Amino acid sequence: VIALGIDIGGTRIKAGAVDEDGRVIAADAAPTPPNVTEFRGVLAELTSTLTAAAGRPAGIGVGCKGVIEPETTRIAVLPGTLHFLEGMRLSELLPPDIPVRADNDARVAMAGEMVWGAARGRRNALMLTLGTGVGGAAVVEGSLLRGAAGVGGHFGHVTVDPEGALCICGNRGCLETIFSARAIEAEAIAGILRGCDSRLRLQYHDRLPEVTCQAVFDLAESGDALARAIRDRAVKYLAGALAGLMLALDPEVVIIGGQIAEAGDSLFEPLTKEVWQRTRGLLTRHVPVVRPGVEDATGVAGAAALVYAMRTSRG
Ligand SMILES: [Zn+2]
Repeated sequence: VIALGIDIGGTRIKAGAVDEDGRVIAADAAPTPPNVTEFRGVLAELTSTLTAAAGRPAGIGVGCKGVIEPETTRIAVLPGTLHFLEGMRLSELLPPDIPVRADNDARVAMAGEMVWGAARGRRNALMLTLGTGVGGAAVVEGSLLRGAAGVGGHFGHVTVDPEGALCICGNRGCLETIFSARAIEAEAIAGILRGCDSRLRLQYHDRLPEVTCQAVFDLAESGDALARAIRDRAVKYLAGALAGLMLALDPEVVIIGGQIAEAGDSLFEPLTKEVWQRTRGLLTRHVPVVRPGVEDATGVAGAAALVYAMRTSRG
């Protein structure tokens, strides 16, 4: 059996044919077009290329930012460059004779973990994707959390500082305003501009926009005081939010994915320590905090997992 997975990103559309074991056996990609007509054309081309390479799929799974209605595949809310897709049904943009499932990209990542990864066989699991922003998803009593209108799981927008910075969502002090690649880079730039004695300043003072979150984590590990102060503060807020979510949802496992999770021990060691201090009283057990089990940087396997998850739930 083959399923097609499609990840719709702001700059590229990635697609792949994925087998039942989660292996991507054929892949293709194209730049994201600026309007619906070209968009439809690109999807048709990607679908036919992959069908020719891997055979007719049992279904197509699509991951996209925003708020998606999974049953109808309608994109209810989608701000930003892909706004022209808002209100459309993804199934209407794809070949009519193949079943289509769609969901937002954070839930798609969790679907991959449910079918092949760290949430497999778990009835309660929590996932955070730490990247440019913070994505979230949860499995609650065996089902992917959606909420009344499909907004459930936006854990990056949990308020961690009621008087904090304005967030892209309109709220103030969301977790994402403190722990995200963008927020950490902004803190580093602020430190450089204040004139803090740091290798960040030596390396980036004349090219501020090139500061990366990765550089901050690397320099924190090597003992740089500014980098360490920025990392430790961000991790503290992340741990506080995560501890709250764990007490609210009581997961069997916490999965931390995304580009910042590649910092490895530099993130996971202080995070697990802090989370334990904050949750031990009620949880009375160590909940494993792990990296994703599915290597899926493109989001294609997770999108295809929507198709396999649907087949499983039908029996
Ligand atoms: Zn927010």
